[in-house]
Amino acid sequence: MGTPAAAQRLLLGDGGSHRPTLLANAHHRCLGSHRALPYSADRGKKSVNRQTLDDLKQQIPLMVYLQAHDWQPARPLSRGRWMGLCPLHGDHKPSFLVDPNKDLFFCYGCGRGGDVIRFAELYHQVKFSQALTLLRQWRGAAPLLQEAARFYGMQLHRHNEAIAYLYQRGIRSLELIEHMRIGYAPGGCLRGWLTQLGHSWPALRQAGLVTGVGYDAYVRRIVFPLEDNLYGRSLSTSAPPHRFLPGSKGGLYGWTQARSHPEVILVEGLFDYAVLWQAGFQNVTCSLGTHLNARQFRQLCDGPRTVYVIFDADPNGSGQQAAQCLSQRLRERGIPVRTVSLPDGHDPNSFFVQGGDARQFQSLLEAAHP
Ligand SMILES: [Zn+2]
Repeated sequence: MGTPAAAQRLLLGDGGSHRPTLLANAHHRCLGSHRALPYSADRGKKSVNRQTLDDLKQQIPLMVYLQAHDWQPARPLSRGRWMGLCPLHGDHKPSFLVDPNKDLFFCYGCGRGGDVIRFAELYHQVKFSQALTLLRQWRGAAPLLQEAARFYGMQLHRHNEAIAYLYQRGIRSLELIEHMRIGYAPGGCLRGWLTQLGHSWPALRQAGLVTGVGYDAYVRRIVFPLEDNLYGRSLSTSAPPHRFLPGSKGGLYGWTQARSHPEVILVEGLFDYAVLWQAGFQNVTCSLGTHLNARQFRQLCDGPRTVYVIFDADPNGSGQQAAQCLSQRLRERGIPVRTVSLPDGHDPNSFFVQGGDARQFQSLLEAAHP
């Protein structure tokens, strides 16, 4: 898998007997193909019922899935099709074509294309059967998470304590709040809202949105929607500060936007991400902790770029140690790395909150050592 030729063969479903022509102004022939698409499972072990696959694809329109994973259409084409930056490779000008009517995509840059299942395989870098599992989980939890995120978003401006907290953490622009879809969980009213919308209590429990005894899981927390999860930062000092719902924290935050830059700034927390984005650094991404999961690590390595690692300058040195360790691993993969030193005891968030500005931060980047 992975070579453009193999992908085209899959798309064409003809075993490669035709050579597809890629004309910049013509849509790829795969988008006109009504033939059944062969999947990687066909080559191997266990065959999957075609009807099951068709049902799954019908329930998850490609466009909905793409947009839930941060993809944005850049310009419309004829017949309802769209072009945008490719989420599968470091794309600089839109080369990713989506046909919502046929639920198919094709990238003129990396030559890959297919349906929503193929997209999940490539995007999450998993095998066919795992892609199906991810899609099924997403189908079950995504509408709920989106609804919960919408609810939390509506609550934010109704609670002064939430706005005051954001202000204190340096989050001051409405544009940023909208960009990150920041919300607030006051606690005690999400369950009622979601059940009223017809979601069942077992579904809420399974998604981790309510506890076993029926209370909202997130109480007095600032909420940041992630691709398949919700991160909650507690306002209360008596609760654990950081929480995720059950399941993976997902890939790097804001990666679709960051990845197209030749230099990427990696921070550990969403409040660090927020102040940097607000200060105009659009090449920032966040690993949600100092430990990168396998997918996040692969994302950093998926193209030529320099990575600036800025973890917290913890008094016990754990942030710096994690940064060193990650830098070493990235170098072994041929990725140029700079570790950025902040003044003692600072993280990027506190640096900006305490008066640091974009120009000063830029000089820290320039002073970073390889
Ligand atoms: Zn591509």
